Amino acid sequence: MKPFRRFGDNRVPGPERVRQAFLDVCRAGVLSTPFSKTEGAKAMPIPLTGSCRCGAVAFSVKSHTPHPYQLCYCTICRKTGGGGGYAINIMGVAASFDLRGGDNLRIYRAELPGDGEGCALQTSTAERHFCIHCGSALWISDPTWPDLVHPFASAIDTDLPVPPERVHMMLRYKASWVEPAIGPHDRCFDEYPEESIEDWHRRRGLWID
Ligand SMILES: [Zn+2]
Ligand SMILES: [Zn+2]
Repeated sequence: MKPFRRFGDNRVPGPERVRQAFLDVCRAGVLSTPFSKTEGAKAMPIPLTGSCRCGAVAFSVKSHTPHPYQLCYCTICRKTGGGGGYAINIMGVAASFDLRGGDNLRIYRAELPGDGEGCALQTSTAERHFCIHCGSALWISDPTWPDLVHPFASAIDTDLPVPPERVHMMLRYKASWVEPAIGPHDRCFDEYPEESIEDWHRRRGLWID
C-alpha cells in the first residue's frame, strides 16, 4: 500500500514554495493576469445564478468568463467538490455577487505546507464556501484578490456554455483511478496552465463584454 501523500509533497524548495501555497485556489491564470478593474467597470458580463443542493444558500454573480473549461485534479478540489476526480471553477465579478442564506455557510481554508522550517502548516487565504446542511461546495473567494469570486460550476443553475476545448490542470495530483477524458484540442498541465481564465476566453473570442 502506498503511503499517504500529503498534498504538495512533490514541491520544490525556494521561491516555488510561494507559488505552491496558492495551489488550492486553482486560479493559476488569474494570478498571472488579475482581472482588470477598468474592464469590469465598463463591461456588461452575463448574470449567473447558483445554489446548494438543499436550497438553503443561493447566490447570483455576473461573469465575463462563463465557460467551465478548467478541470482541476488537485487533492483539495477533488476532495471538496469533485467526486469524479476534478472540480471546475468559473470566474465572476465579486462586486456583482449577491447572496441569500449566508447564515447557512461555512468556510474551509485548506492547510498547506508552510514556508518555514520543519513541517509546520500554513492556512491558505482562499476561502471555500459550502452549505452546512447539504455540504455543497459553492464558491471560492480570497481576500488577496477581492475583485474576483470563483463559483464551482457544479453550483451554477444557469445553463453554462459548453467549452469548445478544455484545460486539465494539476494532473500530477490526480487520483490514480482517474483517467481524464482528454479531447483532441484539450491541453494538459502537471500544475498550472499557461493562460489565465480571462486570456483563455479572450483568445478564443469567448470573452463576454
Ligand atoms: Zn444546502
Ligand atoms: Zn484544485
